[in-house]
Amino acid sequence: MSGIYVHIPFCRKACHYCNFHFSTQTGLQEDMVWAICREIEMRADYLEDKHLDSIYFGGGTPSLLSEEQLNTILDKIRAHFFINEAAEITLEANPDDLSEYYLKTLTGSGVNRLSIGVQSFFDDELIWMNRSHNVQQAEECIANARAQGIQDISIDLIFALPGSTTKRWQANLEKFIKMQLDHLSCYGLTVEPRTALEYMVRSGKTGNIDERKYEEQFRLAEELLGEASYERYEISNYAKDGRYAKHNSSYWKGEEYLGLGPSAHSFNGISRRWNISHNSKYINCIKTGDTFYEEEYLSEADRFNEYIMTGLRTKWGCSENKLKTMNADYFELFRADASKQMHIGLMEKRSGNYYLKGEGWLMADAVMASLFIES
Ligand code: SF4
Repeated sequence: MSGIYVHIPFCRKACHYCNFHFSTQTGLQEDMVWAICREIEMRADYLEDKHLDSIYFGGGTPSLLSEEQLNTILDKIRAHFFINEAAEITLEANPDDLSEYYLKTLTGSGVNRLSIGVQSFFDDELIWMNRSHNVQQAEECIANARAQGIQDISIDLIFALPGSTTKRWQANLEKFIKMQLDHLSCYGLTVEPRTALEYMVRSGKTGNIDERKYEEQFRLAEELLGEASYERYEISNYAKDGRYAKHNSSYWKGEEYLGLGPSAHSFNGISRRWNISHNSKYINCIKTGDTFYEEEYLSEADRFNEYIMTGLRTKWGCSENKLKTMNADYFELFRADASKQMHIGLMEKRSGNYYLKGEGWLMADAVMASLFIES
């Protein structure tokens, strides 16, 4: 399986918490589409398997692309790759972009899945985050997307907002459950360096994230979504009836993908590449033929750690056989530490696979870090 990720690095407004690569200066959008198309031509041989199971437009805000710009990129992909019939084509979207007309153009272009940045069903929380949409727009766009026949709709919600309450988080979850959508990504807020939120916390304009509330709200999501038959298949992702996100699942399963556009990452099993995180430099390098990426070749220990990091965060876990085959000595080190984690109830082993368990999901980063092999 292989997939393509396309990074569209423009946003209408800068959300206070965001540290993704984006710019609110949208004047370069047309040049960016040209440069991404040129990158498709230049890197058409990057993937061993040219049959695509997924294409993911992320960002930034891909729903800022016009119909013509989106089709130009998709046509270029079609000219150099084979898009499998059942391929998932996802567009990340902000509610204020999803007019009835735009939704129609998306289905006409072949987009069959939306990942909508709802974040909260409370207007004052959206204002606090500096989002560009309101609750009414979020509700309407979901109804309109369904009316257009888009079946696969995922929304994002954020918990642990300073100043908010667990009661409000519960109301957000209950509203999601009532909407009967098949997929939810829920992320705990983090204070990232060089964001407006970091400044707000540092200057005392807003409180910091309350660890206790973070844990309480993480557990509440687990409980309410579980009761409503949503399966947690990755630390932050829940789905009903096996409607897992194909593209993101391919990252967690270690499959190859090609990342296009500024800041996009690529992986082909041997190396990782990441494109320069600067819009005009990226476009200029593409124009002049200069190098626009950095690359790292993965050592055996890197590949082993990568498998632990991607496998353990999912419901598929890490296979004992695969770990042994990757490196028997590393596996012995892993096994010794995993036994300790199992002893304190943070991991479990079933049918030859290792999994996170109970509080291990909440402490995933620490559990995985202790299992890593030092290179
Ligand atoms: S819309 Fe998304 S990418 Fe853009 S600033 Fe907000 S969170 Fe970041």
